Amino acid sequence: MADAFDEECDYLFKAVLIGDSGVGKTNLISRFAKDEFRLDSKPTIGVEFGYKNIKVRDKLIKAQIWDTAGQERFRAITSSYYRGALGAMLVYDITRRTTFINIEKWLYELREFGNEDMVIILVANKSDLSQSRQVEKEEGKGFAEKESLCFMETSALHNLNVEDAFLEMITKIHDIISQKSL
Ligand code: GDP
Repeated sequence: MADAFDEECDYLFKAVLIGDSGVGKTNLISRFAKDEFRLDSKPTIGVEFGYKNIKVRDKLIKAQIWDTAGQERFRAITSSYYRGALGAMLVYDITRRTTFINIEKWLYELREFGNEDMVIILVANKSDLSQSRQVEKEEGKGFAEKESLCFMETSALHNLNVEDAFLEMITKIHDIISQKSL
């Protein structure tokens, strides 16, 4: 079921972004929700979220996308961050191999605290920095296939595949919910 019913919308979904610090989570959300990009790092600590109303299969969906807002730096993400989330974007930076290696750890945490049938999409961000690439697309894709995740390479900076990545996650969530309510 959807988390809550919203007056103007057919569904309200919660989805979370997770991954190492600096991979681009905040910028992916602001690109998707407000079509904005920030070159500086965010100053605040604490959970933040962005909203976007989006039409999927003739239904109006309000997507509430949660951002760790830096808490992952202190390993301070608690189970409440994941509670009620129907979708998750697991983000790494193609120019920093450690962020890809750590995906396994974030996935473990998601599966431990997250919803059983949570839609998870693996997002390889900063595809515009191909000259500094440390993780090949095939590696990301291979890992996603092995773990039954969706996969997409994005650039929040150049606005490449960002909308598509969110749309894929939201559509999959919608389909799971409508199957359940049949
Ligand atoms: P977060 O800590 O995961 O939320 O990461 P941020 O969204 O704060 O981004 C960290 C840094 O990476 C910032 O300096 C951003 O400007 C930069 N960044 C984010 N996404 C991209 C991208 O797609 N391409 C490039 N070149 N830089 C990016």
